[in-house]
Amino acid sequence: MTRRGVAILGSTGSIGTTALRVLSRQRERFRVSALTAFSNGALLREQAAIFAPSFVGMVGDPAVAVDEGWCTGPQCLVEAATRADVDVVLNAVVGAAGLDATLAALSAGKRVALANKETLVVAGELAAAAARSGGGEIVPVDSEHSAILQCIAGRPHSEVRRLVLTASGGPFRSWSRERLEQATLADALQHPTWQMGRKITVDSATLANKALEVIEAHFLFGLPYDRIEVVVHPQSVVHSFVEFVDGSVLAQMGVPSMELPVLYALTHPDRIPDTGVPPFDPVELSPLTFERVRSDDFPALSLGVAAGVAGGAAPAVFNAANERAVALFLDGRIAFGDIPRAIAGALAAHGGMPGGSRESLLAADAAARRYVAERHRC
Ligand code: NAD
Ligand code: MG
Repeated sequence: MTRRGVAILGSTGSIGTTALRVLSRQRERFRVSALTAFSNGALLREQAAIFAPSFVGMVGDPAVAVDEGWCTGPQCLVEAATRADVDVVLNAVVGAAGLDATLAALSAGKRVALANKETLVVAGELAAAAARSGGGEIVPVDSEHSAILQCIAGRPHSEVRRLVLTASGGPFRSWSRERLEQATLADALQHPTWQMGRKITVDSATLANKALEVIEAHFLFGLPYDRIEVVVHPQSVVHSFVEFVDGSVLAQMGVPSMELPVLYALTHPDRIPDTGVPPFDPVELSPLTFERVRSDDFPALSLGVAAGVAGGAAPAVFNAANERAVALFLDGRIAFGDIPRAIAGALAAHGGMPGGSRESLLAADAAARRYVAERHRC
């Protein structure tokens, strides 16, 4: 069997290290061809020693000591994503910084196992065009979208009536609006069901993550926004639902572990034996409960969906304002409630900018980041 070459962009992060755990069990089918990280040189060196990739890239921090032969700088992402010995690009970079690598990989005919949902939010149409022209494909790593893909299982688009994405509700699911205003960084980083990077953990607390996921689902599965819904499911066992035109509903379930969607993104549409997920025990996992989203108390969700509906550069503005505001919150410079306020302000100021090209989307992204920085004088 020829082994498929995998590039992992963001190999030192939560998804990147999860993927390497999966790949260490699947060495007969896959080899690690390329690894990139932003600043954690020590872990990257350790990973390179274990997996012996033909390419190693240190993207971000010029102060980090690198080994001979390592690529350095932001262009390493595109280089890693387009190498001849790479068949699958696992994009596990956080934020719009992952955009060019996704587009380049799709244009080069690669499978992109996409954790970096921000790519599709910023430039869903460009990604589709790159896949069409280059022959590449996107297979989602996000657990909700992996669930939907598995439920649709190749049935035609015309048979799907509605998608229902599940949301854990984050750490503040049952907090009052008044208490939410006082939420600290430590509170926001206590996710009840998933261990993830800091940015997506904060996004899960504001529900901006679910807005990004609704837009991601729109571009992946081609449904209009009024047929994509969100329901709160605190146990994170049902990963999403698909309702078909005859009224039948399929759900995909599993214990909350990203190993399963990572592996499926590598093997889709096939399934291969693996032992990463503990046995499924419905009694142990019960009860499974569902609640309506408290949209008024978590305004980032509606702001993001409205940006998706508006189209053009609005989703890119939503994403960039959120990235900048979350960075400020992580630095202790703004309050939790300032995040959706900054997003709303950025959308009002710049949401009408044109989309269409990479350059216009990046201009909107930059305008939104400037807006948030100036609003908070930094
Ligand atoms: P993380 O912060 O743990 O890891 C991010 C990785 O990207 C690190 O390896 C870092 O070195 C690299 N990186 C950071 N900034 C970069 C930049 N500017 N340029 C290049 N590389 C950079 O994040 P994560 O939790 O692994 O999330 C990665 C992506 O996967 C995000 O888009 C997130 O929304 C998505 N995702 C994560 C999970 C999860 O369980 N962690 C689940 C679903 C989707
Ligand atoms: Mg998700």
